[in-house]
Amino acid sequence: MPPSDADLWAQELRPYGLLVAAPWQWEEDERNLVLRAVQRMAQALGGAEGMSRALGNVRLEKRKEGGGRLYAFWPRPPWMRMVIGEPILHQKPEWLGEVAFVHELGHAWDARTANIAARILGQPGRIVRELVRFVGEEPGPTWYGSGLFGLRRTLRAASEEWAEMVAAYLYPEYIAHLFSRPEEQAWPQRIGLAGHMRPGLGIRHRIYVEGRFGEIRLLVTNG
Ligand SMILES: [Zn+2]
Repeated sequence: MPPSDADLWAQELRPYGLLVAAPWQWEEDERNLVLRAVQRMAQALGGAEGMSRALGNVRLEKRKEGGGRLYAFWPRPPWMRMVIGEPILHQKPEWLGEVAFVHELGHAWDARTANIAARILGQPGRIVRELVRFVGEEPGPTWYGSGLFGLRRTLRAASEEWAEMVAAYLYPEYIAHLFSRPEEQAWPQRIGLAGHMRPGLGIRHRIYVEGRFGEIRLLVTNG
């Protein structure tokens, strides 16, 4: 029997480090969405090789309900698992699904910079810990990814902040889209930050996320 389109799609994702658990469960439009998200992220990381070096191998599963989730430790090879809820893949505009997908990949990237004990305990990796030191008081790019829990920056909130930074960096249209949502425009004021704060990558956040992408590209260039 010749391989199905879904099998070919799963094969295409392998060099990026994504191992699809049950390719036949994915509809054509869902497969295309995943491929677009993965290709956009890989391009910024210097190609498929950069992506697999940064994230390692991740098992990819789809479920009918719910959102996305990254299991930094999964007790079977490839030891990391990403689950994507179908509703995420069917949003308006459609590319919001790509944004959610690269958000989860951002978690995988950080998890790869944590040791195995930290991953088992669900603690963030080096990327998130250094982020907290680097950005100081500057809030993250989105309400959800502000890095703040109340007015305090916590490590758990900073994990979401990093994932949203990856999304905001790869999808500038995501930030533009958030401007159309009043709750996103208003969050900095609501928690008492300066009124001129808006969604998007502040200067420290931009430098930090660009630096991490640049590191991987350099790694690929230097072999
Ligand atoms: Zn997240």
